[in-house]
Amino acid sequence: MEAMYECIIVGGGIAGLQAAIQLGRYKRHVLVIDSNHGRSNLCKSYHNILGWPEGVSGETLRALGKAHAEQYGIQFQEDVVISCVKEGEQVIVTTESGQTFSGKTLLLATGVMDCLPNLANLKPCLGVSIYVCPDCDGYEVMERSVIVLGRGEVGANLSLTLTYWTNRITYIDEAAKELKNEMKQKLMKQNIHYIRGEAAQLLVESEGVFKGIQLNTGDTFYAERCFLGLGGNKVHSELAKQLGIHTMENHHAINDLKTKESNIKHIWVAGDLVAHSEQVTVAMGEGVQAAIWIHKRLLEI
Ligand SMILES: Cc1cc2nc3c(=O)[nH]c(=O)nc-3n(C[C@H](O)[C@H](O)[C@H](O)COP(=O)(O)OP(=O)(O)OC[C@H]3O[C@@H](n4cnc5c(N)ncnc54)[C@H](O)[C@@H]3O)c2cc1C
Repeated sequence: MEAMYECIIVGGGIAGLQAAIQLGRYKRHVLVIDSNHGRSNLCKSYHNILGWPEGVSGETLRALGKAHAEQYGIQFQEDVVISCVKEGEQVIVTTESGQTFSGKTLLLATGVMDCLPNLANLKPCLGVSIYVCPDCDGYEVMERSVIVLGRGEVGANLSLTLTYWTNRITYIDEAAKELKNEMKQKLMKQNIHYIRGEAAQLLVESEGVFKGIQLNTGDTFYAERCFLGLGGNKVHSELAKQLGIHTMENHHAINDLKTKESNIKHIWVAGDLVAHSEQVTVAMGEGVQAAIWIHKRLLEI
């Protein structure tokens, strides 16, 4: 086993990186273990972040954040953490490649993974012309034609939410079960075109520019933008649960409002893993707040 770290951060996405930068500025001995497969790896453009009015990709933020943290001596390791165990005053972290690390404190920032359709051409469009979150990107569809590719009530509710920005919405519902009449009425009232079917192909104008969706019946629908509302996003709270951290019914972890520490002493949770609005800036805020309190606790150890 390697020497003991003052903090191990599992998840080097937005929350984990921001925490690493802050801990680096306290000159703390920190290891970030990241599997490099988060939502911030997926989004090609964030449009609602201070300082980036033209948008910035998750890849850019991650590269900048890692380089910034490395300036302070923060160590990084690409791996998947498979177990975290509290043993007395330390936390033992084991990775898929068989390595074991120990830390005086632990921050879990493992995030959420979206349920995405398995369609070619999708990835370059994410955040550019295909979106997942109306709070993030409702603005991008202002008065534009939109296809919502979704399932059941999740997609229907997303379609209704989007009427704040546009009244040119087609909802393609992939669910096996038809919507209840009450919901169909609501969609109709808002002039949302309701189609049932399964997407077979994503049509693009050029890389990253959505054009339409072809169903497996051959029917094709065109729009300027697309929103995904398939439901079934996965909260990466397995490690939190393993440690006995309290989670909500929807699997998001619970932390202290002020310190971001979990119910398990010396273990923190931050970012999308926690119950909040799943935003980059919120993840940054939680990361930095967790780091401040990790530093304070380390002063007491
Ligand atoms: C298409 C899309 C568009 C979006 N648009 C916006 C937007 O416009 N504005 C906005 O504010 N937000 C947007 N978001 C949401 C935003 O990306 C998230 O809120 C943000 O990434 C949360 O940061 P995080 O650090 O909690 O999680 P992530 O950035 O997902 O990072 C979690 C990290 O943990 C790692 N990890 C998970 N489990 C393990 C493990 N067991 N071992 C090691 N590593 C692990 C993952 O590899 C990942 O790198 C969008 C998301 C998507 C998918």
